[in-house]
Amino acid sequence: MVGKCIAFLVIFCFVVDQSWSLTDNEIAAFISRDWIEGNTNLQGNVSIEKSCDTLILRSNGIPDHKTGIFDGTSRSTPNYLLEQDNTWIIPATPRYARKVKCLPMGTIGMAINGVSIYNPFDSKCCDAGLTEANLLDICWGHPNGRGSYHYHIAPKCLYKNYCSNASSIIGVAIDGFPIYGPIDEDGTELTKAHLDECNGKETNGQYRYHVINEFPYIMGCFKGKVLSNAGINKACKCKEVSAENCDPSGEGSDFKCCEDPDNCPYVYNTDTRHGISNN
Ligand SMILES: [Zn+2]
Repeated sequence: MVGKCIAFLVIFCFVVDQSWSLTDNEIAAFISRDWIEGNTNLQGNVSIEKSCDTLILRSNGIPDHKTGIFDGTSRSTPNYLLEQDNTWIIPATPRYARKVKCLPMGTIGMAINGVSIYNPFDSKCCDAGLTEANLLDICWGHPNGRGSYHYHIAPKCLYKNYCSNASSIIGVAIDGFPIYGPIDEDGTELTKAHLDECNGKETNGQYRYHVINEFPYIMGCFKGKVLSNAGINKACKCKEVSAENCDPSGEGSDFKCCEDPDNCPYVYNTDTRHGISNN
C-alpha cells in the first residue's frame, strides 16, 4: 500500500503543475511563535505533514499572540479558551471544484499559527465582523463554546499591515488553497471588487484567497474541492447574511493598510514577533 502510494505520488508529481501546491516557503510559514498564552499557560503548536497526495494539518489551537481574558469571568465573552486536538486533511494539490461550495460553520481554514479560521457568520447568520465585534480580543479572535479560539475577520496579529509590502501567507483553506493578506504584489490594497465570490483570485497562476477589510473578510466560499475526510462540518447553515436581528455589537473592524510604518495604529512587532497595539 505504501509502495503504491509512493509510486502514485511520483507519477502524480510529474503530471500535475506544481504551482498549485503550497510551496516549501509557504509551508515553512506555519509555526507557532515562542509565546505562552495567558489563559491556558500553554505554548501553541502547529505542523503540516505530507502524506501521499494529502497534507495533514495538526495543531493544539493555542494562539501565539496576546489574547483576551477567556476564563469564564467576562460577561461579554463567557467562553473559556481551551487546548484543542485539531487534525484536518487537505489536498496536497488543490483543484478547482466544478461549482463553488458554501462554507460550513466551524473550521474552514487554518492560520499559520494553527488557529482555526471560521466563516464570516455568527450563529444567526449575521456578519460576525459586526455582531461579534465586542466579543473579539485585541487580535480579533475569540473562543467558541467548546473553547476553540478562532478568527472570522483579519487575524491582525499575524501579519504586517504596511501598504508598501506585498502580503505574506496567513493560512491555508481546507480546500488546499493558500490564504494571503490584503496587499497585492503591485502594492494594491485589495477589496471585494478585486476578488471573486470566494474572496480570491489567481496570482502568478496560483489561486489564493485574500484577507480583506470588508465582508466576507477571509473567505466567501470554497473555490476548490474539499476532501470527504477533511475533518470539518459538511452542512452549510448560512449562505448569505441574514436580514434580521443583526445589530452590530461594536464599531466593527477597520484594519486599513498603513502608509507610515512609524505611525500605524497597530503594528506587528518584529522584535518580540507579537502584535502590539499602540493605542
Ligand atoms: Zn466566533
